[in-house]
Amino acid sequence: MITRFAPSPTGPLHLGHAFAAFVAWDLAKAGGGQFLLRIEDIDRSRAGDAWERQIYEDLKWLGLSWPEPVMRQSERQPAYDAALDRLWAEGLLYPCDCSRRDILEAASAPQEGAPPHGPDGVIYPGTCRPVAPPSGPRPREATLRLDMRRALKSLSRLSYLETGDGRHERIEITDAHLIEEVGDPVLARRDMATSYHLSVVVDDAAQGITCVTRGADLAPATAIHVLLQHLLGLPVPSYHHHRLIRDDEGKRLAKRDDARAIARYRDDGLSPADIRAKIGL
Ligand code: GLU
Repeated sequence: MITRFAPSPTGPLHLGHAFAAFVAWDLAKAGGGQFLLRIEDIDRSRAGDAWERQIYEDLKWLGLSWPEPVMRQSERQPAYDAALDRLWAEGLLYPCDCSRRDILEAASAPQEGAPPHGPDGVIYPGTCRPVAPPSGPRPREATLRLDMRRALKSLSRLSYLETGDGRHERIEITDAHLIEEVGDPVLARRDMATSYHLSVVVDDAAQGITCVTRGADLAPATAIHVLLQHLLGLPVPSYHHHRLIRDDEGKRLAKRDDARAIARYRDDGLSPADIRAKIGL
């Protein structure tokens, strides 16, 4: 089994990250497999080199190791461009210039309460979706959305194996779910030239990941990822969505939650075994 830990270098690693890293590490090691690291730094406005160095230091202190060189998403734009070119050539992408506010206004029917939400927030109401696929070269520096309805025309049933929290369950993904509860996801952003969904799928395949381990908060995105794997001719790994580590009030730990930063515990004299015990491993 090949697993990965894929942190974004936008703050200190905390107990939640330690848990995610240990889950990936333990699963790989249990089966004589391999644990890989990937730095998810596509958002250059938030990513910091100092945070990246801190990630390496914290993980090494926790006792983890990984093959070098580490994959860094900021160096992977050619691979993302190739995937976007392929989807564009198949007529599955369209440019969208709606602002968040435009989307909210178009999605909110009067007197009907909050508009429906999907994995990326308010479900896109389709304002910019063209009747026929756009022609010509793929526009650069444009937000590109996947035309979900068109994408589903070429695909048969989608599913994936979920192994998180003791499960061994095949999850079926229906067209109705993707159309009504996901909508047309953004695959490239004007300011980033890729998106979380596209990068994670392209990179998991490039790294040969066979089991994606990550927090349960990302489970709703998996339908998009499996769909993209089919569209791009990539293998579908199994998914292991694990519980989230919460603070004493039951809130999810956030990057700014310095109090639970691994480096802080280390400075306070705790050992990696103490960290494992704290998160129930
Ligand atoms: N980079 C993401 C995070 O920091 C994880 C992505 C994934 O595991 O799919 O939460």
